[in-house]
Amino acid sequence: MNSLQEESNRCLNCKVKPCQKACPLGNDIPSFIKLVKEDNLKEAFNVLTQTTVLGAICGRVCPHFKQCKGSCVRGIKSEPISIGELEAYVFDNAFKENYDIKTTNELEGKKVAIIGGGPSGLTCAAFLRRSGADVTIYEKQPKLGGITRYGIPDFRLSREIIDKNIEKILSLGIKVECNKALGKDYNLEDLEREYDAIYLSFGANVSSKMNIPGENLQGVYGGNELLETSIHPNYKGKNIAVSGGGNVAMDTARTIKRLGAKNVYVIYRRAKEQMPAEELEIEEAEKEGVEFLFKTNIVKILGNEKVEKLECIKTQLVQKEGEKRPVPVNIENSNYLLDMDYVVMAVGSKPNEEIVSKTKLEVTQYGNIKVDENYMTSKKGIFAGGDLIGTKSTVAWAARSGRNASEAIKNYLLEE
Ligand code: SF4
Repeated sequence: MNSLQEESNRCLNCKVKPCQKACPLGNDIPSFIKLVKEDNLKEAFNVLTQTTVLGAICGRVCPHFKQCKGSCVRGIKSEPISIGELEAYVFDNAFKENYDIKTTNELEGKKVAIIGGGPSGLTCAAFLRRSGADVTIYEKQPKLGGITRYGIPDFRLSREIIDKNIEKILSLGIKVECNKALGKDYNLEDLEREYDAIYLSFGANVSSKMNIPGENLQGVYGGNELLETSIHPNYKGKNIAVSGGGNVAMDTARTIKRLGAKNVYVIYRRAKEQMPAEELEIEEAEKEGVEFLFKTNIVKILGNEKVEKLECIKTQLVQKEGEKRPVPVNIENSNYLLDMDYVVMAVGSKPNEEIVSKTKLEVTQYGNIKVDENYMTSKKGIFAGGDLIGTKSTVAWAARSGRNASEAIKNYLLEE
């Protein structure tokens, strides 16, 4: 018996399934772990693929302590079950044994185009294809994977795992057109003529700005863009500030530190406990020498043409009426300056405005594509999901959106 099967033996197979309730995808965790216990990994894969096709990836990068693992009953008195590791184990085994994902033929004869091959697009494509639809994914990058390949560094998620998981999805018979950018190589009207439905899932990978003075100086970068392009300035011997507290901030800070920066400071306006990044990621960043300035706001970036200094101010957390959690408020006269060479914004992201405008679809006040409760955009037959519609930006939430949208698209195609 290997260590993961031993781990599965600790699962209590709880009737109320708190772990499943906390999983964005609603994976039937007690049932798949029971099958791992019985060494029936093929059936465990069948149970998991009822709700997810990205188990090898989600099992490794999901913030499990904030989701399934954080709700595990075992965690009350001892260590919670390593649910993510067990999920990845089941998927890795399925790749090795070449287990198939179950399919039906309800949508035979229907053609669907998916624009964007990230977690949401891949999941939507897989669930539609397994219902029998003829599915083609259009992707602007040379490879599929979206944020998993062009956002999460390989020290957190190996490219081999991404390739294997995508290979399994594509083995369903999905067609792929890589290096094809919407608005450049084709437009929505072209696809509308050819397909019965279209799903937009090209994400939201443009770093938001902080709207502070000095943001346009040379040496100010977006975290999403650095991770996506892997084009970095020379960090050797330099001081770099990363503004933000989520996983993009952690991934960017760790990548920059590994590329030889002298000092990397993560500047976050709230306290450590309030960081959206997972604890493990914060710990890893600390171990690698990234420094954290909590309860600190960046007020101004100073320099002639390029970044030279950063003006920061200390904050205090104040519970205000109507707010769910304490709000950071600047402490008067607590400003101070830090010598800085580069500043990286990792305070959130939004969809690419230019591409969104080319779709001519209605958008929300935040620049996301507007959809109804069935993921349908302002145009009939065109659906959207994932970060593009403002879903919570984790792989599992994007995948959930893709899976739920596939169900809505299926209903639409069957009613047509
Ligand atoms: Fe097993 Fe923990 Fe889920 Fe209970 S909560 S079924 S112990 S994984």
